[in-house]
Amino acid sequence: MIDVCLAGTGGMLPMPERWLTCFWLEYNGKACLIDCGEGTQITLSKNGCKISRLDALFITHIHADHISGLPGLLLSLGNYGKTGVLKIYSHSEVYGIIKSLCCICPVLPFEIEFHELSSDNISEFKWNDIDVKSIPLKHSIECLGYSFTLNRKPVFNPQKAKSLNIDVKYWKTLHEGKNIEIDGNIITSDMVTDEKRLPLKITYMTDSVYFDEMIDFAENSDLLVCEGMYGDDEYIDKMREKGHMVFSQSAKVALESHSKKLWLTHYSPALVNPFEYEENIKKIFTNTVISRDGERMTLK
Ligand SMILES: [Zn+2]
Ligand SMILES: [Zn+2]
Repeated sequence: MIDVCLAGTGGMLPMPERWLTCFWLEYNGKACLIDCGEGTQITLSKNGCKISRLDALFITHIHADHISGLPGLLLSLGNYGKTGVLKIYSHSEVYGIIKSLCCICPVLPFEIEFHELSSDNISEFKWNDIDVKSIPLKHSIECLGYSFTLNRKPVFNPQKAKSLNIDVKYWKTLHEGKNIEIDGNIITSDMVTDEKRLPLKITYMTDSVYFDEMIDFAENSDLLVCEGMYGDDEYIDKMREKGHMVFSQSAKVALESHSKKLWLTHYSPALVNPFEYEENIKKIFTNTVISRDGERMTLK
């Protein structure tokens, strides 16, 4: 099971009741975070995200609302006693900014390992047994979206193994999907496991204008976290010029990608009450959540 928390939902500037957009994902005792604008460690802590578990950081782009909180976050991590490596994933432009920001926190009790992702193509890699993909978004500067897919093994069924007289020492091998041979007979993994389980998928895309490839990238997400600067369609053209989207465009991505749930985020500071658009947006995609800071979910 994967625990997620959208610890902030703001864009551009932190506000008294709305921290900057950042997304926490925890699986198997390790956590990762997407983006760290100003004061991110405060909203993480307020929302019960245990930053001592932070193993990896994914940065979308170098606009201040997504990266300026890095030194504070790193210092807090040190204060919480982190000693293992912190992995940071992003495109090459981000690396230079990280090095500059780290000048103001030069002594940290842990190492930082930078993993460069393509800013032109989809990158695929593994983090914490989860298959991760990054996609270049279309923003005013280079920016990446991310998807996390947990492919789950079918549940091992000891009754099936016992009925076939398979020694316990082979169970682990079979559960890993490997076949074994006993007395000339091949025993396959599917003979001792239950039905296949569907993968769990989470997709995160901000900041960007709408473009068609978003739909393929988010295909079949259990949770899609997507930006919406404004709730009113009258801002579509203005937002396109600035490299952003409005609520209805994100709802269209959720609908067409067959996602199960949409969390909207990255609201403009000028959007005081995003909830007034809820009814209209749900007409496009029923399972839309106008997220608040600290939105949480456990995916099983
Ligand atoms: Zn932003
Ligand atoms: Zn931006």
